[in-house]
Amino acid sequence: MPLATLKTVLELADARKAACLGFVCQGWEDARAYTAAGEAVGAPVILSAGPGARANMPVRLWGEMFRELAAGAAVPVVAHLDHGGRLDECEAALEAGFSSVMIDGSALPLEENIALTRAVTAAAQARGVSVEAEVGTVGYQGGAPSEGTTLEEARIFAAETDVDALAISVGNLHLQTQDHAVIDWGRLAEIGGLTACPLVLHGGSGIRAEDRRRLARDHRVRKLNLGTELRQRFGGQIRAELEADPTLFDRSEIITRAEPALQALATELLRRSWTGS
Ligand SMILES: [Zn+2]
Repeated sequence: MPLATLKTVLELADARKAACLGFVCQGWEDARAYTAAGEAVGAPVILSAGPGARANMPVRLWGEMFRELAAGAAVPVVAHLDHGGRLDECEAALEAGFSSVMIDGSALPLEENIALTRAVTAAAQARGVSVEAEVGTVGYQGGAPSEGTTLEEARIFAAETDVDALAISVGNLHLQTQDHAVIDWGRLAEIGGLTACPLVLHGGSGIRAEDRRRLARDHRVRKLNLGTELRQRFGGQIRAELEADPTLFDRSEIITRAEPALQALATELLRRSWTGS
């Protein structure tokens, strides 16, 4: 199936009051497992290359890899740049054939975030590529704190930009290893009332399963980013395979043995998110 834009798959999600999952990828095997999970569920898949992934492998190769997976997939696959920090980073992703870019100007003053987002949107729209932006700041467990999205900045940002998805900060936090996030439902509802733009929450691993359903069903959250719980499963399974077989040394063999466990969890999470069950 050809590569899909973020806008396209978020519309599919909206029609069923579901959320797409943005899978944080670190290599070929996990990206392949997430694509297979999408095929098992019959749901679109958003393959994301974040700053860590891009520090480890050039963005051009990520684009090539995601497009290869999309071409062979039976479901829509989005090649998404996660947390692009500058215009040139997003332009490199456009050159690399990504179908969606996130420009994260959330640490900038609002006017600068708007200007940067508009510049990226102009470049992306010229190529038919979707844009996600962030207003308010989603922090990191053990790192930079969150700054919750205010109604005023959400209103101004939505009015002055033309993005396809808007990431907001309403109690969600990156890198949570347990699902302890306390969502500010009132703030979320108010932001949802200010814009028709599909909403995105990063830090999905910290959000309880019942809250994930409610976010999609009642609040137009159409993309949930998941990384930590899947990395925990994959890393844990790699450790288990090595402990089970002390003679194991081949990298491909180790990762291939661990891949089914990752694919099983991704399939379960995607089924819940896509079917609401
Ligand atoms: Zn994020």
